[in-house]
Amino acid sequence: MTPQRTLKSAVNLSGVALHSGKQVNLRILPAPAQSGIVFVRTDVPHSPLIPAHFQNVVSTRLATTLGRDQVTVSTVEHLLAALAGLGVDNARVEVSGPEIPILDGSSLPFVQAIEAVGTESQGTPRTVLAIRRRVELKINEKWAVAEPSSRLEVHGSIEWDHPSIGHQEFHYIDGKTPFSAIADARTFCLLRDVEAMKNVGLALGGSLDNAVVVDGAQVLNPSGLRHPDEFVRHKVLDALGDFKLSGFALQGYVRLHRAGHDLHSQLLAAIFADANNYEIIGPAASGEASQGSVARLRAAVSRGFVASL
Ligand SMILES: [Zn+2]
Repeated sequence: MTPQRTLKSAVNLSGVALHSGKQVNLRILPAPAQSGIVFVRTDVPHSPLIPAHFQNVVSTRLATTLGRDQVTVSTVEHLLAALAGLGVDNARVEVSGPEIPILDGSSLPFVQAIEAVGTESQGTPRTVLAIRRRVELKINEKWAVAEPSSRLEVHGSIEWDHPSIGHQEFHYIDGKTPFSAIADARTFCLLRDVEAMKNVGLALGGSLDNAVVVDGAQVLNPSGLRHPDEFVRHKVLDALGDFKLSGFALQGYVRLHRAGHDLHSQLLAAIFADANNYEIIGPAASGEASQGSVARLRAAVSRGFVASL
């Protein structure tokens, strides 16, 4: 069994929030075994703890937003992907506003900051969510399939009718593909979408410093792409971040086509909707607290809260 890990010491980062354009401070702190990833808004008095769990997803439009008692934290996916890629199970994330800073639009700055302090084993075995049966989901042209595997594999494919993007595929295999192959892949958008977002007061912090911007056949960023298939690598990175919201280390082979944050959350809901789809292996499987959390999760799924995202 792989032991759980946390950071050796606190990490401080600051940067602009993508949508508000405001400066935000972020602090990632070590946390006890079995506590998971928990967000705290330091600018909100008596802020509730917001666990990184898909039950707490309140929006998947443009980014993944978590919330509890009307307090939200948005754009969590690239930080969660960094924590997933570095094998961090437990951390407390304090943020001074409603959005995690976008930094360079990838997970790389989070990875570098965490690697600078290092991570440590906590002894307690990591709890695994193993896929036991094929689960599939199709929404118009998008689809997702999760199947059993001895490790986590994510195969992403995209199909953009756009000369700079087109068809791209990337297959990430945990333990085989270095996380660095996807950690630096940046978020991307079309110039016309950026203009439309800015017109309605969104993406105010967006710039060529934190996204790949495409116009026609041209990538507008002066330094070009970090990988010829940076677009699909970023999609796989987003998926790793969103799958961290299962609350466990996912073990299965997931294929995603034209997926996004909505499909990722709905796939987790579909997996948890039937206990025959999965097995929880590790300390959380027998703990009373976690059985309660699985029960609450099933109740949320049956109420349609999660499935209606
Ligand atoms: Zn992203």
